[in-house]
Amino acid sequence: MQSLIRTAQSRDIAPCAALLEVLFSQEKEFTPDRAAQSRGLGMIINNPQIGRIFIAEGEGTLQGMVMLLFTVSTFLGKKVALLEDMVVDPRWRHQGIGSELIHHAMEFARSAGFGRITLLTDQDNEAAQRFYRSKGFEQSGMVVFRKQLEAFEALEESTAGKPSMQAWMCRECGYLYDPAEGDADSGIKPATPFDELSGEWRCPVCHAEKREFNILL
Ligand code: FE
Repeated sequence: MQSLIRTAQSRDIAPCAALLEVLFSQEKEFTPDRAAQSRGLGMIINNPQIGRIFIAEGEGTLQGMVMLLFTVSTFLGKKVALLEDMVVDPRWRHQGIGSELIHHAMEFARSAGFGRITLLTDQDNEAAQRFYRSKGFEQSGMVVFRKQLEAFEALEESTAGKPSMQAWMCRECGYLYDPAEGDADSGIKPATPFDELSGEWRCPVCHAEKREFNILL
């Protein structure tokens, strides 16, 4: 099974968001939210200094993905990476695609001078833990702590019942119009609903017209 592994681009946002739904449906702590996932993917793809998303393609379809998010270790005095969102489409599992993805990510990090890769996985997901051990990862004695700064319910309420403040995605290139942000380059102020954009407005990435956008539900 030979897949092509490459860095994700804007046009890969929609299929990657769909694939993340698979991951977040199986991870205990998360529930999928297509708009939030698209927004997050866009932040990384459009800002390569934040991280890199690698995708596996084969037979004309997205088979899997993994991402590295970049940060710094003062202990090592080096760049280090967090490995996140490793997922293979269930239809393409057990064919070595996960291994190809992780080897690609590790090789990228090594050649770019990163000192370490850290990842989190579910405590009871023994298959995932075996997989990462087989790739040379060792379980850390550190415990994960988190503080949620905005409740999920609050995030949902902020857009629930307000379709005008929902994000829209360009079908041509995957660009996400987020009403909260607007589109500064086109003089669109933050908090401008998609409906209020004039017919002259174009996708800032590929110049597609408004009718080429789909609402993200
Ligand atoms: Fe576009």
